[in-house]
Formats: sequence, structure tokens, C-alpha cells
Amino acid sequence: EALDALMSSHIAEYPDFPEPGILFRDITPLLRDADALRTVIRHWASVVPADVEVIIGTEARGFVLGAPLAYELGVGFVPVRKAGKLPGTPRSRTYDLEYGTATIEIAEGALAPGVRTLVVDDLLATGGTAAATVALARELGADVLGAHFLIELSGLAGRERLGDLPVTALWSID
Ligand code: 5GP
Repeated sequence: EALDALMSSHIAEYPDFPEPGILFRDITPLLRDADALRTVIRHWASVVPADVEVIIGTEARGFVLGAPLAYELGVGFVPVRKAGKLPGTPRSRTYDLEYGTATIEIAEGALAPGVRTLVVDDLLATGGTAAATVALARELGADVLGAHFLIELSGLAGRERLGDLPVTALWSID
């Protein structure tokens, strides 16, 4: 398919980054190609639920893709940030990484109760980041319609971490 070809030619692979044994997928070749970026964002906007009201993106690559997606859809964008960046009294979640833990936060009152949201990020690996983001959105009372990713590493079973939530990826790879 055309989208698969576009993705495979615009996502670079770096072995042993950021740790030995990790094959890192780098989305920056896609970001710097104007036509490719526009094609991907427009396609993405055409496959999300039509009634979504807010896109939630997780720092940092979830911002880079989530904000243009929200703009294309004509809806708002809410950032989920790494700990210590948001003013006020944000809600926090800590989750396990391969080595250690990470904490992410959402601003209190950022999502109206019942608002229809989608969680987006560049890549689904183990699902820990997305699961924590979904938990924060639900804690504020949002209705999370699904989680959407540019890339899914299907071998890591990240979907299972998200339970019954519908998960969609534009490009699924082992
Ligand atoms: P997870 O929490 O699903 O294990 O990891 C996904 C998170 O880590 C996402 O926020 C994603 O941006 C980042 N991530 C993990 N591996 C990669 C990778 O190979 N490439 C990119 N671009 N991001 C990754």
C-alpha cells in the first residue's frame, strides 16, 4: 500500500539507541518532508472517529503529531507532559519503564467531564506511556474513544496493556 511505502521510506532505524538492544525508529525524516507529513496527517484525520472533540498528545512526539492532527480535524489539543512542567496542581501517574519509572501529568480541568477524546503518540511499544495517558484522561472524567499511533511495534503487545480500548496504528511492524 502507498502509505506503507511512504512510512518505510521515511522512518529511520537506529540500532542500540537509546540503550543497547533497542532498535529506535526515528520519525524525523517524515517530519522534515512537507508532502509526506501532510499526507500522513490528512490520512490520519480521515480514519479517526468523526465525533472526537479533543486530541490528547503525550510529550514530546505526541505533541509534534497530535497538534497538526487536531488542527486538521478542527478540534482542540491537550498536552500530557513529563513531570514538573505544568503549572498549577496537575494530576500525575507513574508507570514502569524497562529500567526505572516515568511520571507524566495533565493539568487539572484540562478535559471537561464526558468530552470525547483520542490519545495519540508517534509509537506504541509496551503500551505503558499510552496506558498512563489514558488513565489520566479518565481520571478527569473524559471519554477516551481510542488510542491512535503512527507506528505500532506489534511484537511488544502494547495493545494488551490498553485492555478493551480500540487501538489503531497507521503502520504496524514487528
Ligand atoms: P511504551 O510506553 O509504549 O513502551 O513506549 C512508547 C513511548 O516511548 C512513546 O512515547 C514513544 O514516543 C517512545 N518510544 C519508544 N520507543 C520508540 C522508538 O523506537 N521510536 C520513537 N520515535 N519513540 C519511541
